[in-house]
Amino acid sequence: MKGPRSSGLLRRLLLFILLFSLCFTILASGVQLYFEYRREMRDIDSGMELIRAGYLASLERSVWDLNQEQLNVQLRGLVDFSDVARVRLLSPDFELIQGEKTPIGPLRIERFELTYQPPTGERRHLGELEVSIDLGAVYHRLYTTGLASLLWMSVFLCGLAVALSGLFYRLVTRHLQVMADFARRVAEGDLHKPLQLHKSRARHEDEIDTVAHALDDMRRAILNDLHQREVDRLALQDNRDQLQKLVERRTASLQRAKEEAEAANLAKSRFLATMSHELRTPLNGILGMAELLRGAPLDERDSKRLEALYKAGDGLLTMLNEVLYFARLEEGESHPELVHFSLAQLIDQVLTLLEPRAMSNGTQLHAHVDPRVVDRCYGAEQFIRQVLSNLLANAIKFTNAGHITIDVARLPLDNSEQRDTQSTTQRLRVSVTDNGIGIASASQQKIFERFTQASEDVAQRYGGSGLGLAISKQLVELLGGRIGVDSQEGQGSCFWFELSLQPALADGEIPQVSAPEQALNILVVEDMALNREVASGLLERDGHQVSLAEDAEQALVLCRRQTFELLLLDVHLPGMSGIELCRLIRRTPGPNQHTRIIALTASVQPAQVSHYLDAGMQGILTKPLKLEQLRQALAGDSLTPASAPQHHAVDWALLDTHRTLLGEQKLLGLLSTLRQSIAQHHKALTEAIQADDCTEVAHQAHRLAGSSDSLGFTALARALRTMETAALINDSAAIHRQLPVFLEALEHTQAVLEGLLQR
Ligand code: ADP
Repeated sequence: MKGPRSSGLLRRLLLFILLFSLCFTILASGVQLYFEYRREMRDIDSGMELIRAGYLASLERSVWDLNQEQLNVQLRGLVDFSDVARVRLLSPDFELIQGEKTPIGPLRIERFELTYQPPTGERRHLGELEVSIDLGAVYHRLYTTGLASLLWMSVFLCGLAVALSGLFYRLVTRHLQVMADFARRVAEGDLHKPLQLHKSRARHEDEIDTVAHALDDMRRAILNDLHQREVDRLALQDNRDQLQKLVERRTASLQRAKEEAEAANLAKSRFLATMSHELRTPLNGILGMAELLRGAPLDERDSKRLEALYKAGDGLLTMLNEVLYFARLEEGESHPELVHFSLAQLIDQVLTLLEPRAMSNGTQLHAHVDPRVVDRCYGAEQFIRQVLSNLLANAIKFTNAGHITIDVARLPLDNSEQRDTQSTTQRLRVSVTDNGIGIASASQQKIFERFTQASEDVAQRYGGSGLGLAISKQLVELLGGRIGVDSQEGQGSCFWFELSLQPALADGEIPQVSAPEQALNILVVEDMALNREVASGLLERDGHQVSLAEDAEQALVLCRRQTFELLLLDVHLPGMSGIELCRLIRRTPGPNQHTRIIALTASVQPAQVSHYLDAGMQGILTKPLKLEQLRQALAGDSLTPASAPQHHAVDWALLDTHRTLLGEQKLLGLLSTLRQSIAQHHKALTEAIQADDCTEVAHQAHRLAGSSDSLGFTALARALRTMETAALINDSAAIHRQLPVFLEALEHTQAVLEGLLQR
């Protein structure tokens, strides 16, 4: 490429020079020839003039004298003139010719008249002299001269052209080639070699130097640019690395924060569990005593008071449970307990309980129940009681010397409810109207949020936690209802809630648990005296024989001595715990190795429950002890009460309750949702187990257990809880051991679900 291109320029230059030289040479030669021609013509003219001036007179004399000889000599002399080809003299006496007789070629013929002036007389005409000049010779000479000059000039110009081209090559072309090579090298990325021309350093910079410098400057600029880019890139990389490190640090610290939060959460849950236990234990005593007093002969006023006392304690227990419910909200573990109850009685009890407060405020309480309302209902009485108590307590708190009315109205059912329940359900609107301080409309929605009060002013004047309405809202919504308020500041408020309630079964249909016919020999192991008394009081009232032990040691002594039909073990015993005691009894051969054992505990966290069952207990009785539960536990094949996890695979009673409460359609909807959820979580759970991802196993197991539990699939839920417990302590081996149990329960559950959904 490079050869032809640069030599092309040189060749063109050479060609131009040659062309130009040729034109110049031709022109110059032409001009020279012209002048030569002019000179030759002038020479001929001056020769003729010489003849005229120098020879003509002597010729005329010789003609006059008729001297032919002389004439011949003279004519020969003329012929010797350069370029004269022929001289002819014509006169009456002579015709003399000298030179070529008949010259060829172009001729110029000059004629001179010959005259003579005799001494006397007139001038006489003697003849004519004709001189023929050979122009061919002139032309030949001119041609030779022209050719010679043309040749010389051509040679000179060619030499000049070559010299110029050489010079041009030396001065320009070869540098151009170097620069082209340099540019190519730059393009290929070789930027470190500077441009060097093979050229002596001139004092003044010429154009080639300028271009070369410009090119080299360009190289340096590119080099600098690249360098700058490299620096920028490195800086960027550095920044990126730093950013990455920062992200890693942040992630690590977030992870730590998450772990800390999880640990705090765990601590909170433990705290709540412990608190619930701590609070429930004395409450157990209070309620137990009240329960005992219920059997004593009291007058109407006292038994009403006792009832109120009992209900207050029970309400407190519900509150405790609700605090726990809030704590466990994320885990979806708060379920309304469905019971048969009388609405009028409930309202009466709530009023009785709060009347003293209202009276101390000078406020009158009234109640009005729509006559169309069916009084006996089946539903979450505790929830309704709590909501109503909250609303009434608030009304009393924010009303001074006024009137408060509880109103129960029956609302028309909406369409879906009519279809679902064949109109047995009643939709109620319960409202609590006061003429107290009222609430500004801007705050009316806010107050249903947790820890929110209408204003700072109210909060300071009246105190309170701001939790009551939030709890009420949660409870009402949990029952599928809605809650709201209509109020005007300074005029009063009307808090209301609406929900659907199932009428109760006829009296004969309500299952009653009566005292067992057969008396049992029971050992109660409980460290707190009050609780021991409650338990023994309740059991003895039903005719059982009760032995008491304060701790594991006493219990073991008694167990060695006699056979019991039932052991009630408090879990939290000083020294050896109830669980360890149970294990020991189960391990040690003796009269009570196979006696039924029930745990007495306030801690009914699922993980703990499965722990008890694993230790060999057959059931759990939650504290505070309730006679009904105790009777149920003693009467049933399984000693586990309804509220505790059961060893049955499916809790049919719970399913029936759901069916009654929700209707067949909704229940089927729930079951199919469970089927889907099982399919979903099962896959994720199996994958997590295979990957030994304990966190995920715990998460998935927990979620699936929650939904299984709430629809009564207890075996599956239990298997999942055990798995969850194992996952929480990162015990992969235990997870794998639990897998077959889980799969069996899963298969059974799926079969039951299919059966139920296909009916
Ligand atoms: P607490 O009463 O413990 O502050 P609540 O959630 O029960 O919490 O009530 C939230 C707020 O709603 C109260 O602080 C009060 O400002 C307002 N409120 C509730 N009931 C009434 C009422 N009957 N009359 C006026 N204000 C009320």
